[in-house]
Amino acid sequence: MAHFIVVGGGQAGASLVAKLRNSGFEGEITLIGEEPVPPYERPPLSKAYLLGEMAQERLYLRPAQFYDDLNITLRLNTRVTAIDTEARTISLGDEVLSYDKLALCTGSHPRRLPAAIGGDLENVFVVRTLADVDAMEPQVRQGAKALIIGGGYIGLEAAAVAAKKGMQVTLVEMAERILQRVAAKETSDHFRELHRSHGVDIREGVGLERLLGEDKVSGARLTDGSEIAADMVVVGVGIVPATELAEAAGIALDNGIRTDAQGRTSAPDVFAAGDCASFPYRGERIRLESVPNAIDQAEVVAQNMMGGAVDYVATPWFWSDQYDCKLQIAGLNKGYDHVETRHGEDGRKSFWYFHGDQLVAVDAMNDARGYMVAKRLIEAGKSVTRDEVHTPDAELKALLKR
Ligand code: FAD
Repeated sequence: MAHFIVVGGGQAGASLVAKLRNSGFEGEITLIGEEPVPPYERPPLSKAYLLGEMAQERLYLRPAQFYDDLNITLRLNTRVTAIDTEARTISLGDEVLSYDKLALCTGSHPRRLPAAIGGDLENVFVVRTLADVDAMEPQVRQGAKALIIGGGYIGLEAAAVAAKKGMQVTLVEMAERILQRVAAKETSDHFRELHRSHGVDIREGVGLERLLGEDKVSGARLTDGSEIAADMVVVGVGIVPATELAEAAGIALDNGIRTDAQGRTSAPDVFAAGDCASFPYRGERIRLESVPNAIDQAEVVAQNMMGGAVDYVATPWFWSDQYDCKLQIAGLNKGYDHVETRHGEDGRKSFWYFHGDQLVAVDAMNDARGYMVAKRLIEAGKSVTRDEVHTPDAELKALLKR
C-alpha cells in the first residue's frame, strides 16, 4: 500500500491530508507535526485568542478524532530531522519511515531579535504558535506597558489587543511608515489614525537600538536615543520560510522551497505547500504567507500526489482585524502606480490599486461589498476605470456583469 507522508501539522498539512482522503486516496497517510496539539488556525492567535475571547479547542481545524476517523496517522510532538530523497525515507531522530510521496508543509519561523540586543530577555515574545501566545497572555494586563517592535499586520494586531486590554502601548516601526512593505500610504494612514485614536503611541522611522533590562525586559533604547519603559515586548518583524529540512536534503530553494506550478520540488515525489513554498505566478515567482494560500495550494498538491497534473492558480487574498475594523485584501499590489480611494456608505472605505489602467489589488476597510466586487474583477483579470471605483454601493455589483 502506498504511503504518503506530510511533514508539518499546520494549516497546509491538515488541508492536504483531508483532501487526499476526500479525493479517494486509500493508501497510508502519516501527518507529522512538531507541536503538541492537533493542527490549528493561527489568525486568532493575534486576535480573539489573545484577547481571551476564544477557547483553545476552537482553534483546532478538526478535532483529533477526525484524523482517526479518516485513518490518518497523526504524530504530534514529533520533529522530522532528515530526509533522504534517494532512499525515500525520513528520519524522526532514530526512527526511519519510508515514503512513496512526501509533502513538506513546514510553514515559517518568526524572526527573533538577537540576544546581543536583548532578544533573549524574559517577557520578550513572538507570535507564531499557541505556546508563544499562552506564554505571553499573562503579561497582557491592564495598566502594564507593552512595546511592539514592527508595524506589520502581526504587530498592529498585537497592539490592538494590548490597547483593548487597557495596556499602555507603544509601537516602533523602523520604516518610514507602518505597513510600508505590504500596503499603500493610504492604508498606513488609515491604521495609524485608528491606532492613535485608541491611544497607541506609534513611532515611525525609528529603529530599535537594543532592549534594556537585567533578566527581564524593562524597556528599550531607540535609534534616535530615546528610551521607552516596557513590561513586555512583542516582536513582529516578519517571518522566514522553514526550509532547513529541505535544504539539508539538497532540495532546491528560491525564497522558500522552490516548486513548479504543480507543487513539485526538485526532488522526485517530494512536494511543498504553504508558507514554506515559492511557486510561479504570472511570470514571476512568489511565496504567500496566508491561510487561503496554504489551503488552496495544499489541495492542489494533494491531487498531484495522487497522480494529477493540476496547476496551482493563486488568487491572493488576506484579512486583518484591528479593533472594529475588518481589513480585507485581494490581489497583489506589486508594481502599482495609482491608488483610488472609494468612500462607501456608513464610513466604509476601500483603496483600489492600479497598474496603469489595470486594477491589481484592493484594501477594503469594513467594505465587504467593495471588496467582493474588486476581488472578483481581479481574479477574472478584468478592470474598471478610476471613475467607476466611485460607483455607489447599490450599483457596484453591476460592474461585474460587463
Ligand atoms: P504553519 O501553519 O505554520 O504550519 C507549519 C507546521 O509545521 C508548524 O506546526 C511547525 O511546527 C511544523 N513543522 C515545521 N518543521 C517541522 C519538522 N521538521 N517536523 C515536524 N513539524 C514541523 N493568514 C491570513 O490569511 N489571515 C490572517 O489574519 C492571518 N493572521 C495570522 C496571525 C498570526 C499570529 C500568525 C502567526 C499567522 C497569521 N496568518 C494569517 C498566516 C497564516 O496563519 C499562515 O500563512 C498559515 O498558517 C500557513 O500555513 P502552513 O501550514 O504553511 O504553516
